[in-house]
Amino acid sequence: MRRMHSPRGGGKDGGAPGSVRFVTFGCKANQYDTQVLREALGRRGLEETGPGADLVVVNTCTVTAEAGRKARQLMRRIGRETPQARIAVTGCLAESEPEILREIPNVEWVLGNGEAKRPVNFLRQIGQDVGPEELGIPAGITEFAGHRRAFLKIQDGCDKRCAFCIIPHVRGRSTSRPAEELAAEVERLVASGHVEIVLCGIHIGHWGLDIGSTFSALLRRLAEIEALGPDGLPVEWRLRVSSIEATEVDEEMVSLMAARPDRLAPHLHMPMQSGADPVLKAMNRWYTVAEYLDACHRIRARLDRPAFTADILVGFPGETDADFERTLTTAEAAGFTKIHVFPFSARPGTPAAEMGSRVPPDVSRERRAALSEAASGWEEDFRRELNGARDRVVLEGFVGLSGRYQRVAIHPEDLSGPPPDAIDVTLHGVLETTADGREVTRLRGRPVALSAVEEASP
Ligand code: SF4
Repeated sequence: MRRMHSPRGGGKDGGAPGSVRFVTFGCKANQYDTQVLREALGRRGLEETGPGADLVVVNTCTVTAEAGRKARQLMRRIGRETPQARIAVTGCLAESEPEILREIPNVEWVLGNGEAKRPVNFLRQIGQDVGPEELGIPAGITEFAGHRRAFLKIQDGCDKRCAFCIIPHVRGRSTSRPAEELAAEVERLVASGHVEIVLCGIHIGHWGLDIGSTFSALLRRLAEIEALGPDGLPVEWRLRVSSIEATEVDEEMVSLMAARPDRLAPHLHMPMQSGADPVLKAMNRWYTVAEYLDACHRIRARLDRPAFTADILVGFPGETDADFERTLTTAEAAGFTKIHVFPFSARPGTPAAEMGSRVPPDVSRERRAALSEAASGWEEDFRRELNGARDRVVLEGFVGLSGRYQRVAIHPEDLSGPPPDAIDVTLHGVLETTADGREVTRLRGRPVALSAVEEASP
């Protein structure tokens, strides 16, 4: 439970709420949006609690039918368990099915993305007074509560129209946040103790298109920041580009990543969606398999053992066995180190929802299992390839995340004190046998400083 300044009031009977609970579904952009609201309500003195809060803010997702179902189920449960709670629903589900949400008991406010994106609008909508001091607060967030790595949303919306995707309908066209505002936010986040900033949004490669700039220009601007940590001293920090389309990774961006592996994590998440041209075309994706693979090879040639992760949708209407086989071989050729595999789920209002030639659910499930199993093997190969590599690990306790998006353990005996926020290590693959008899490689990081002393010893 976090305490947030002095409460202004605590009504459980329609008065001003005194406590608030946040529940977030979906993507990094949603998690960032929740943090914006958390800070806005915290400034007004609401105490953040768990179940039992007067006000529950539910930030929803509509990317799959399952995400929507879970959010509705949760709101009904809140109503049953805490009848006095007042629920404010926001996010993409609030945009796509407001009427359904209004029928749920205890839901008092249904605020679409337009109403909730700006905290001032959100506060006014839920009946809070907004004074002039609120209007002068810098946009964005000051911390990412409870995490070492902070998300930073740089843009919202998308100008593309992929046949399976509802997001452009609920988030609108791409709008970019100003570079200077983002630079100031990076400095604030590092000053709050975050040593990794993950750039996120809905279509981040389109940052700048609406304001006459480019994503690479923003990356250059942010990467140059020499930020100060909580103690006011310079600190090592890094950026991670979360999800970007392969065709939007330009030469300038690759050069930046090659020049500053310390500042720009050598990891790209590049949604592929399918590895078969007929399916890509039916999905209204704008590239071919050859173009996608060309981008992977171009980037790999310039970086030291980069990690490539991807989203792949299986069971899209019309996807044949041969298409799926092609997806498997394309994914292997791309050299993915991790894949998020999604079975197709029709979203009403999208072109794909109207398409025939549906793939039976059991076939989609089989394809998902086959691709996930293949991806586990490729990740295992990648971990072995990393043996002896150097990397920086952002720690939460004795386990952390490397620049190449791998979980790495640090042994307490390798440290002379409590675990630091981040540490430079040499990676070692350790073979372990799991409970079900599989052999897996786990990565252990030995502090570079320690290895250097050992190497120097006779
Ligand atoms: S690029 Fe396609 S999948 Fe991604 S948000 Fe835009 S429409 Fe959706």
